[in-house]
Amino acid sequence: MGIVIIGSLNMDMVVRTSRAPEAGETLFGQAFALSPGGKGANQAVAAARLGAEVTMIGRVGKDGFGRELLEVMRQEGVHTEYIGQSETQATGVASIVVDEEGENRIIVVPGANLEMGREDIAALAPVISQAEMVVMQLETDLPMCEQAASIAYSNGIPVILNPAPARALNDELLQHVAYLTPNETEAGILAGMAVNSIADAGQAARVLLQKGVENVIVTLGAKGALIVNDAGSLHIPGFPVQAVDTVAAGDSFNGALAYQLTSGKTLAEAVRFANSVGALAVGKHGAIPSLPQLAEVEQFLK
Ligand code: ATP
Repeated sequence: MGIVIIGSLNMDMVVRTSRAPEAGETLFGQAFALSPGGKGANQAVAAARLGAEVTMIGRVGKDGFGRELLEVMRQEGVHTEYIGQSETQATGVASIVVDEEGENRIIVVPGANLEMGREDIAALAPVISQAEMVVMQLETDLPMCEQAASIAYSNGIPVILNPAPARALNDELLQHVAYLTPNETEAGILAGMAVNSIADAGQAARVLLQKGVENVIVTLGAKGALIVNDAGSLHIPGFPVQAVDTVAAGDSFNGALAYQLTSGKTLAEAVRFANSVGALAVGKHGAIPSLPQLAEVEQFLK
């Protein structure tokens, strides 16, 4: 069973442009690509490419995008038997605009991703309870995530929650999370404060620890990540690279973190490795196309 990733599968529609258009403005872009994505799918492939055994729970539509996503997951070695196909909803899509600086602006239309609810996940309790680790994000139904975290917690299975996109989370959910992985913006939203520095990130993380999370790992873009738990806080610096496209930086980090933690690494070791995977992902275009294989990471870390 290995790592169970419960999350979104989307078809990314990526437009490259010199700059994002203003309201009412039309620009010529430089390139367009369709690529499989969604935070859940990205994280599943990130972990699978590193060698983890990954089972994905999610839902797509009965359409071309859905069939393509299922095929890609299978080709990547992800177990797909718990990815359902909606009778009524289309496969989720994400409209992504990437500018010359590599910054992205994203609109997600979740479709089938939001159809999976509490009852569906309750029926999958036997799958969740056999996982080594459960990984979730917030592009799916929140009560479904709460239910999944509760099932995992009551079975002693650690949960990584990547709270993206950020939204208010109740304390009960946070108490069921072993590793919460917000970026700086998300940490700020969850803690109700502005996060503009590593010190702020530490302060926001401590607010979240108070709510019952066991470990908070704030990802800091090029600056790496900050681990905060009862033992204190530890900044693990990022790797200097030329960023061409930050799509899936966070997803690659989370997939790598799950892979390392289920391989028996310490949290500090796991975060350093995840930083290297994030650095490799920002050096390439696209979501899934940018996710490195294990050999590439090992070469990078030599
Ligand atoms: P995104 O939403 O773009 O996928 P994010 O905002 O969720 O990313 P970030 O904190 O930007 O997450 O990045 C995740 C991790 O990726 C960082 O902790 C770091 O390890 C790596 N990373 C991101 N940007 C860079 C960069 N410019 N240089 C090196 N490493 C980076």
